[in-house]
Amino acid sequence: MDAIFLGTGSAWGLPEHGCRCRICQKMGQLGEERLRTALFLEAGEHLLVDCGPDIRSQLGRNGIENIDAILITHGHGDHYIGLDELEVLRRNGESVQWSPIPTFASETTWEIIERRFDYLVGKLLDKRFVKIGQPLETLRTRVTPFRTTHSKSAKGSVGYVFSEQTMTGVRKLVYTSDFVDVRDEGSLLGEPDFLIVQSHFFYEPMVNRPGHMSFQRSLEFIQRWRPKSTTFLVHISDADAIPGDEANVSLKKTEPVEPMINPRTGQPYGIPTCQDEWQERVEEIRMDLNLPCKITVAHDGLRVSLW
Ligand SMILES: [Zn+2]
Ligand SMILES: [Zn+2]
Repeated sequence: MDAIFLGTGSAWGLPEHGCRCRICQKMGQLGEERLRTALFLEAGEHLLVDCGPDIRSQLGRNGIENIDAILITHGHGDHYIGLDELEVLRRNGESVQWSPIPTFASETTWEIIERRFDYLVGKLLDKRFVKIGQPLETLRTRVTPFRTTHSKSAKGSVGYVFSEQTMTGVRKLVYTSDFVDVRDEGSLLGEPDFLIVQSHFFYEPMVNRPGHMSFQRSLEFIQRWRPKSTTFLVHISDADAIPGDEANVSLKKTEPVEPMINPRTGQPYGIPTCQDEWQERVEEIRMDLNLPCKITVAHDGLRVSLW
């Protein structure tokens, strides 16, 4: 299974339009960008996980023309509002061969999608409901949805577990999407080979709206699920307040509840701005905590052969 990280940014992408914070400035200087978080998987079939407003350029940049199924995690705009853009696949498909793309989401999420895009259902999108804990039907890949707690405005949000039998055993990828908690997951999420988890904040913030995972708290889940190979971080935002930054007065900026302390300096670890700083900081913390799995800060366009 191969994965392409189509986007690794938060709901408004980074650098955020009109923002002069140190994170956006640094990224701007380096020409770095994080589009809205979405994932593309190739496993003998082409699976698109989430479809935000950047999907047109994401498909273009990565040369993607075929999508066999779409998996939507929840009904927030950055995860489904790009579905309309996929109409080009139907418009340019051969008329005799075209059939709507199986599109999976929970019933609650489908209510939100259909309110906006009822005209796509049956033509572009083949509406399919996911049932928690039950593998999705008609896919080659075993994909099992699990319930996640995200926010009041995203009831019915789910993550997905992808698993495949290979020559050397079963391989498993856990995709959590936006969440603050996962309950009653049983053994479904334990010991995956790969974990994709959001790091919307670096530190757990005083104000966490509308319910996102911070890198600091994701460490609890990494320790709970114990990924065997690699954890990838996605959905990265600029909401952490960097001490001394004048842009900290903006509404989105939030102070940490209790920053992690670097044992060598006795001071909090510095908040990362760009890709290199993120990767360095995460690696430092991984070594300090003696975590067994690798942690890769994903960036847009990152391609990984998982198994
Ligand atoms: Zn999101
Ligand atoms: Zn969300």
